[in-house]
This record gives sequence, C-alpha cells and structure tokens, in this order.
Amino acid sequence: MRVDAAAWIRAFAALIDEHADELTALDAAIGDADHGTNMRRGMAAAVAALDDSTPDTAAEIYKQTAMVLIRTIGGASGPLYGTFFLRLATALGDDPETSTDIGDFARVFRAGLDGVIARGKAEPGDKTMIDALAPAADALEKQAADRTDHSTTGADTTETGSAALDAAVAAAASGRDATTALVARKGRASYLGERSAGHQDPGATSAALLVRAARQALR
Ligand code: ADP
Ligand code: MG
Repeated sequence: MRVDAAAWIRAFAALIDEHADELTALDAAIGDADHGTNMRRGMAAAVAALDDSTPDTAAEIYKQTAMVLIRTIGGASGPLYGTFFLRLATALGDDPETSTDIGDFARVFRAGLDGVIARGKAEPGDKTMIDALAPAADALEKQAADRTDHSTTGADTTETGSAALDAAVAAAASGRDATTALVARKGRASYLGERSAGHQDPGATSAALLVRAARQALR
C-alpha cells in the first residue's frame, strides 16, 4: 500500500478541524491558546489550495502545502509544519508519483523530521511536536526494514503498509502522551519552566494527528 499525498493533506485537515478546540485548550494551559485556530486556518487554506489546483506529483503537493502553511499560520507551528512538508518535497525529488510506498515514506518522513529539528533546534524530550514525530519516524523505519527482510519470502505488502502505519500511529500517540510529564525546553511553554509539567503538549498532539492522517491516506 502507498500513502496518497493529497489524501494525507485532506485527512490531516479534517482531523485538525475535529480537534481544533482541544488543541487550543491544550495551548491555553501552557501557551497562548491559538494552536487549534492556527492549525485550522492553515490546513483549511491548504485544502482550498488543493481544491483550486492539485499538483500532479506528491512532491509538488507537499511543496504547495508547505508554502500555504508558512504563509497562513502565524506562530511557531507554521514554519515548523511548513519545513516538514518542504523537506518531504525535497526528499522526493523528481519522483513522478502522487503516492509513496512504505519504504520511501519512512525515508521522506525522516527527512521531514530532520528539517523540523534543524529549524526549531528542539530535541526529543523538550516537550514539542518532535516527541510525537520522532517515535513515528523510528517505527516507520523499523517496519520498512522488516519488510525488506521478508521481501524474499513473499510477505504481503498490503499488510506491511498498514502494519507500518499502525505502528507509527501507536508510537506517535505514546510520544504525545509522554509529553505530559515533561518540562518544556523550547517554544512558549518553556517560559513556564517547571509549571509546564502536567500538561500535554499541543504541538505533539497535532503531530500525532498528522500520523493518524497518513494511516487514513493509505491506498
Ligand atoms: P506559538 O507557540 O507561536 O503560539 P503554536 O501555538 O501554533 O505556536 O504551536 C505551539 C507548538 O509548537 C508547541 O506545542 C510545540 O509542540 C511546537 N513548538 C514550539 N517551538 C518548537 C520548536 N522549537 N521545535 C519544535 N516544536 C516547537
Ligand atoms: Mg500558541
């Protein structure tokens, strides 16, 4: 199975819309109460851009989405999610497909994560979106490697795709849950110091939705 780029963006927008109030409430506790509205505005604009014209490669779809997010989301998350999608586009290069198989998806997802780390300078454990994205990247790579190991024995690639994304969804969700105990070291929440502990990070929560959306975009 393959991750369909346009379906991923649309599924992420739908999940963000559904969870916007929750994301804003989480940001109200340790930030400035705008993460849900930021993400909803950005992803609605990304979907509007796709409705207007859907590029004919996954790389171009991610690039268009990145530009829209950087332009429409004020705040930390705009440039960070923008960088994520831009790096996916770069990592795909001139790949002509509109969807990506699991092995390649693991590779480009890692490139996206590396971009977010380079841009925001956060590390795992800093209570940011990295804490959901990094475990998902690890899970995808592990599953993609297992698939390669079994490819000579005729393992079912249909199952491998959903198993990889299921593992990534679970890993992102535990990473998100683990942010509750952490003290924030990056972003607005870090201004609270020790008082940021005891609250789930809004960006890790939206990042877990990003991974769930990829699971829904398997075709
Ligand atoms: P702002 O903090 O500017 O109001 P948002 O509320 O939209 O922006 O996003 C906040 C989220 O952004 C945080 O919950 C955190 O997960 C993420 N974030 C903030 N700074 C960084 C960073 N340097 N690296 C990675 N993620 C970050
Ligand atoms: Mg905020």
